[in-house]
Amino acid sequence: MNEILFSSWGDQITDNRNSAKQSSGTNSQIALPEKFNQDATIKAFIGWDGIVLRSDDVNIVDLCRAYMAAVRDQSCGKCIPCQSGTNVMAATLDKICRGDGTAADVENLGAVAQVVSSSAKCGIGKTGPVALMHALAHFPEAFQAAVHGGTQVEAGDYQANVTAPCADACPIHLDIPRYVEFIKEGKFEESLDVIRCRLPIPGIVGRVCVRPCEENCRRANLDDAVSIKYLKRFVADRELAMHKGPDYKIEPSGKTGKVAIVGAGPAGVTCAFHLARKGHAVTIFEGLGEPGGMSAMGIPDYRLPRHILRNEVEQVQAMGVTIHYNTAVGRDVKLSQLEEDYDAVFIGIGAQDSSPMRVDGEDKGYKGFIPGVQYLRDINEGRDPYPEGKRVVVIGGGNVAIDCVRCAFRIDKEDVNLVYRRTRAEMPADEVEIVDAEEEKVQFHFLTTPVRIIEENGVVTGLECIRMKLGAPDKSGRRRPVPIEGSEFVFDCDTVVPAIGQRVDLSLLESVDGVETTAWNTLIVDDVTKQTSRPKLFSAGDCETGPGALITACAGGRKAAQSIDLQINGLPLEYTVDDHFRKLFKDVKVYDPDENLGEIGKHRRKHLEMLPPDTRKFIFDEVEQGYSTPEAREEARRCLRCYRVAMVAL
Ligand SMILES: Cc1cc2nc3c(=O)[nH]c(=O)nc-3n(C[C@H](O)[C@H](O)[C@H](O)COP(=O)(O)OP(=O)(O)OC[C@H]3O[C@@H](n4cnc5c(N)ncnc54)[C@H](O)[C@@H]3O)c2cc1C
Ligand code: SF4
Ligand code: SF4
Repeated sequence: MNEILFSSWGDQITDNRNSAKQSSGTNSQIALPEKFNQDATIKAFIGWDGIVLRSDDVNIVDLCRAYMAAVRDQSCGKCIPCQSGTNVMAATLDKICRGDGTAADVENLGAVAQVVSSSAKCGIGKTGPVALMHALAHFPEAFQAAVHGGTQVEAGDYQANVTAPCADACPIHLDIPRYVEFIKEGKFEESLDVIRCRLPIPGIVGRVCVRPCEENCRRANLDDAVSIKYLKRFVADRELAMHKGPDYKIEPSGKTGKVAIVGAGPAGVTCAFHLARKGHAVTIFEGLGEPGGMSAMGIPDYRLPRHILRNEVEQVQAMGVTIHYNTAVGRDVKLSQLEEDYDAVFIGIGAQDSSPMRVDGEDKGYKGFIPGVQYLRDINEGRDPYPEGKRVVVIGGGNVAIDCVRCAFRIDKEDVNLVYRRTRAEMPADEVEIVDAEEEKVQFHFLTTPVRIIEENGVVTGLECIRMKLGAPDKSGRRRPVPIEGSEFVFDCDTVVPAIGQRVDLSLLESVDGVETTAWNTLIVDDVTKQTSRPKLFSAGDCETGPGALITACAGGRKAAQSIDLQINGLPLEYTVDDHFRKLFKDVKVYDPDENLGEIGKHRRKHLEMLPPDTRKFIFDEVEQGYSTPEAREEARRCLRCYRVAMVAL
C-alpha cells in the first residue's frame, strides 16, 4: 500500500500505473505516511501541489469533485474569478460524477482551472485548481469514461482540512491569514475575535512569542516574513488604549463540572479560559501572589509590561474563574484532595527550579551566587537580589541568560558579562534578544565555561573558568565544546548567576500514586489529549515539555481543556480529524523554504521603533514601541493569504 501509483506532487511526475509494481515507488517530493489514523490507510492525498495516488480503487474524478467542493467552501469570494470559478468547477465535477457530464464540460473545467489559478489573489484560488489540472492532464481517460459512461460515479470516503504555512507552524494554530486580513481591512475587533477563539492572551503573546510562524512565512521567500507577532500585539494594544475588552460568550457544554487548575501560568490560564467558555466552574491554585508564571516572574518588564499581563488575566477571571493566590498544591492543599473534590485537575506548574551547573561551590549557599530564575523573580518583584554586588557574570546562552544580563544593567550593575560554552552561532537565545543585549554593551565571553566559584568568608569574589574549543557534533547536531587544557583563568566578580536551564519540581505528586514521569522529571501525558496516567489528571506546559515557549504552554492548556470537557460529558478522548491532519502536515510539510515565488518582493517588513540602547539599558520601560494604525494596516497588506486545502482518500 505504501507504493505510489501516481504522483504529481511538486511538479515531479511518478507514474507506475502501467509498469510492474516497484518495491517502494517513493516520490522524493512528499513524505506521505501510510496511515491517517490507527484504522484508516491513506489511499490518496490531494492538495495545493498536486495528487498522490496509492490505490487504483480511488476514482480520480470523484477525488477531484470532493476536493474542489472543499476548495470552493474556502474561497472568501473577494476575487470574482476564484469565487465563481471554484463554484463552476465544483458544480461541473458534481454533474460529471452524477453521470450527466459532457466532453465539453471536461474541456471547460481545464479552461476555468487555468483562469482561476492564474488570476486569483490568494492561496486558495492559486493552488486550489492545481491538482485538477494535473488530473485532467494525466488521467484524461478517467474523465472521458465518466462523461461517456452516463452512470453515477461512486463517492469515496474523504477527509479535508485547511491550513497555511504560518498557521501550521504556530503551536496553537491561529488562523493567521484571517486575523491579518481583518487588520488590513481595518476590522480590528474581528481580528481579535479570530485570535481569541484559541488564545486569551494576545497582548502577552504578541510581545514575547518566539514566533515559529514567521520562520514559516512564505512572504520571506519574496522579501521578509510578515510581522505576525507584532500585528497581534497591535490589535490587543489598540483595544486596551480604547478602554475596551472582550465580550466573551459562554456556551455551556451539555454537562458542566468543577475543574481545579494548579498554576496560573500561561498553560493554566489558557486551560481555565477554554473551560470557562464551556461553562465549567474553574478554580486556579497558584503558589505565588501573582498570575502569569514565568511570563510574570521571569520575563522582565522592558519586554512585557506588567499591566498588560494583569489585564489579560483579569479578563479570564471576569469569565468566572477564581484564583487562590499564595496557595501551593502539595504544601497548602494536597493534590489527592483536589482529585477527590473536583471532576478533573489540570497541572500547569511549569519548570520553576534552576538546573545545577555541576561546578564546585554552587551548593554552598555563598552570598552573591543566585540562580537565574530567582535573580529575575527578585528583580521583577522590585528587589535587587544582591545590592552590594556590581560585577555580574551570567552563565548560559538561552533567553533566560540574556534576560539576566539585560536586567543587571537596569539595576545599576556596572560590569555585566555573559559566559557561554559554545560560540555566538550556537546560542539558543532569540537572535533579536542577542542583538539587543549587544547594543546595550553586555560583554560576551564565548567558548568559556565555569569550573569553580571562588569565595572569601562565604562571599563570592570570582569565578574560575576554562576556555573551550568546538569538537565533533553532539546529538543535537551542534559541535560539542571541549575544554582546552591549561587555559583556566579567573573572572573577578561578586555576583554569579547560572542560567543554564530549569527543572520541574514534582513534589506535589507525593499524595497520589501512579503518575508516570520521565527521566527528566517531566510529566508523561498523551501527546494530544494531555491526559496523564491517572484519568482525572491532565497536564501541559513546561512541566510536560520541559522549559519551552509560552505559546506551546498555551496550546497544551487548550488541548487539555478540550479533553476535560469531553471527559466531564462522558465522551471518549479520541483524536479529532484536525489532530490527524496536524500530524500529517508535519510529514508532508506545508512550507517549502526553497519555493521560488517567481518575483522579487518590493515591500519589506516594517520594523518597530525601539528605545535607543543608551536610554533603555538603565530603565524598565518597554523597549519595543508598537505599530501605529497605518503601519499595522500597511504591514498586514504584505500577507499573501497562503491558505492550502488538503484532502485524503481513506
Ligand atoms: C526568564 C525567562 C524568559 C522567558 N522568555 C520567553 C519568551 O520571550 N518567549 C517565550 O515564548 N517563552 C519565554 N519563556 C518561557 C515561558 O515563560 C514558559 O515556557 C511559560 O511560562 C510556561 O508556562 P507554564 O504555564 O507551563 O508554566 P509557568 O509559566 O512556569 O507557570 C507555572 C505556574 O505554576 C505555579 N506553581 C508551580 N508549582 C505550584 C504548586 N505546587 N502549586 C501551585 N502553583 C504552582 C508557579 O508559581 C507558576 O505561576 C521564558 C522563561 C523564562 C524563565
Ligand atoms: S502565537 Fe506565536 S507562533 Fe502563533 S501566530 Fe502568534 S506569534 Fe506566531
Ligand atoms: S504570507 Fe501571510 S498567509 Fe502566507 S505564510 Fe505569511 S503570514 Fe501566512
